[in-house]
Amino acid sequence: MVFSYYNRLSARQQSIYRQSDEIKAVRLPRPAELRPFVEELEPALKAENRRHVERTCQAIADGIVSQLEAPPVGVEVLAARPSDDWGELHGLYVPEEGETTAHIQVWMRTAKHKKVVAFRSFLRTLLHELCHHLDYEFFHFPETMHTEGFYNRESSLFHQLVPEARLKKKAAASRKRA
Ligand SMILES: [Zn+2]
Repeated sequence: MVFSYYNRLSARQQSIYRQSDEIKAVRLPRPAELRPFVEELEPALKAENRRHVERTCQAIADGIVSQLEAPPVGVEVLAARPSDDWGELHGLYVPEEGETTAHIQVWMRTAKHKKVVAFRSFLRTLLHELCHHLDYEFFHFPETMHTEGFYNRESSLFHQLVPEARLKKKAAASRKRA
């Protein structure tokens, strides 16, 4: 499926879009090594311990980039999400430029009720922003775009880090079929 904004892109951007769309997964050589950090993330979020959440997110990001031999990316975990008429920001990726090193910002709390974000959507946001980093620094795309391939890559990372999510889904699907 090609998203509708494709038609508004320049020929050069359309070519980047097609390359991005073709890559459906990011394979980590040793995903099991990162699972202890992922398991640490859920209780740290529940305890609303921002520093612990930040350390854990940084460990996950460090592990992913080092396994892929990609350049590092800093992770900053902030309190309540910024919001405006457009909605609320879940995460942000700032690419390297001049003095600024590449970094990710993710927010721990929703804008409206200041509630702590659920573990799975928080991890997905972190991985989403990491995929932007990998687009530039691992795949070497001149631009990063939200293609279906991009979302597939985000999901592939998620399922390597949270393998039971897939098992549960499969179990539910087979129950449905039964
Ligand atoms: Zn994005």
